[in-house]
Amino acid sequence: MSLQTKKETFLNFVNGEWVASSTGEVEESINPANKDEIVGYIQKSSLKDLEKAITAAKQAKNPWRKLSGAERGNYLYKAADILEENIEDIATTMTKEMGKTFPEAKGETARGVAILRYYAGEGMRKVGDVIPSTDSEALMFTTRSPLGVVGVITPWNFPVAIPVWKMAPALIYGNTVVIKPASEAAVTAAKVIKCFEEAGLPNGVINMVTGSGSVIGQGIVDNTDIDGITFTGSDMVGKQVGQGALARGAKYQLEMGGKNPVIVAEDADLDLAVEATISGGLRSTGQKCTATSRVIVHADVYEEFRNKLVAKVKEIKIGNGLQDGTWMGPCASENQLNTVLSYISKGKEEGADLICGGNRYQDSDNPNGFFVEPTVFDNVKNNMAIAQEEIFGPVLALIKVDNIEEALEVANDVKFGLSASIFTTNISKMLSFIEDMEAGLVRINAESAGVELQAPFGGMKQSSSHSREQGQAAIEFFTSIKTVFVK
Ligand code: NAP
Ligand code: MG
Repeated sequence: MSLQTKKETFLNFVNGEWVASSTGEVEESINPANKDEIVGYIQKSSLKDLEKAITAAKQAKNPWRKLSGAERGNYLYKAADILEENIEDIATTMTKEMGKTFPEAKGETARGVAILRYYAGEGMRKVGDVIPSTDSEALMFTTRSPLGVVGVITPWNFPVAIPVWKMAPALIYGNTVVIKPASEAAVTAAKVIKCFEEAGLPNGVINMVTGSGSVIGQGIVDNTDIDGITFTGSDMVGKQVGQGALARGAKYQLEMGGKNPVIVAEDADLDLAVEATISGGLRSTGQKCTATSRVIVHADVYEEFRNKLVAKVKEIKIGNGLQDGTWMGPCASENQLNTVLSYISKGKEEGADLICGGNRYQDSDNPNGFFVEPTVFDNVKNNMAIAQEEIFGPVLALIKVDNIEEALEVANDVKFGLSASIFTTNISKMLSFIEDMEAGLVRINAESAGVELQAPFGGMKQSSSHSREQGQAAIEFFTSIKTVFVK
């Protein structure tokens, strides 16, 4: 069965089959490096399509749950091998669909392979503890039960890694899945789902329905046959998802925005800090939830750091992510480009000094792309919108401080708390940062973006619902603890 009807029309995956939506409508997914290039048409589904997928997942849940973890793991190992065999095609599709450079897209797809293998192995690991009972004739222990049907709602910025880091643990711990991927990256998602199909997963264990967030995403939130919802995306939508889930008593997990700082202390290795600020802030065109967006620099090294940073930012090669030598691709969509440009205007209006970039970038090879120049603002005050709100674009805000205490105060003075880093060679500054930084990921002498798949991932404050994904932490969301007493 093919995932496409014509070369460019991609279908939903429901109960083991690729099917068209009952609406008969499709929508286009375009290439942000050239808006005239259609990467594919995806199904504009209705609630009826979603209900079929949920019914299939519900019917599949008992037989899937009854398999041993090792049996479920074998499917994930197969899916990993198939994803690996298709790495070139999937990474190329990702670059075409949402713009990140091909090397980054390939790295992300390889990450997806590694995540699948990691969770395949988790099927063989312990799920509970024996707890001494006060009754000498009793055995007391914990085990874990899957939630049942898990609804997965994902953003476009990591179109392979995020769906995989949610679906793989959902599946290994015995849940079935209905995924609604981001519309901007749904062709890539369909190709990932195809790998699971080829791995031979039983019908209904994994289902994908594409369509608008307000219909299909909201439909997942509202449907009482969905037992748990795992969401990654914006702050605004995430809070709505959480409220909807809570209202009907479903388990939910939200990973949302960030406003991630890097602190550069007076004793930092400035070249390293510049390199990490550029990599953490501007790779993927700044469209990572862990991207650096605030650069908090000690007054003694501020000028030197700023001059080195701007010189390097000016060397960045912007272009189509499929072209050799491109370091930074376009914004993922026209909306995203307009958001970035409006924050740049706001920064100027509020009195920050624009010292680099700031404009839409016209690429002669790709005249219809959503490109923007990497942008640096100087003399940013912490109350400005560009220092408080998530921009999700290649914009860095430089803030000057006089000491580590002030640096930490500024770093913590936002509603988000996803990731943060510090550049220093001083152990006591490192320890203050580890202790006082309000972020789920704190990194010393390393960029704010970048996480290892075997470690817990998630934010503090308004970046998350305070749960964690990835590594062994994933078991907490995708299962419930059952305490067993045997007499
Ligand atoms: P988004 O607009 O919130 O969309 C995320 C997903 O939710 C998409 O699949 C979207 O569908 C769907 N959706 C939209 N409205 C919905 C509704 N009313 N109910 C249910 N679902 C709905 O976010 P995005 O623009 O795709 O992604 C960027 C954001 O993701 C940034 O804020 C970034 O920080 C965050 N992010 C966070 C993490 C993390 O781990 N903390 C990682 C990556 C990204 P459509 O695509 O059809 O609109
Ligand atoms: Mg697109």
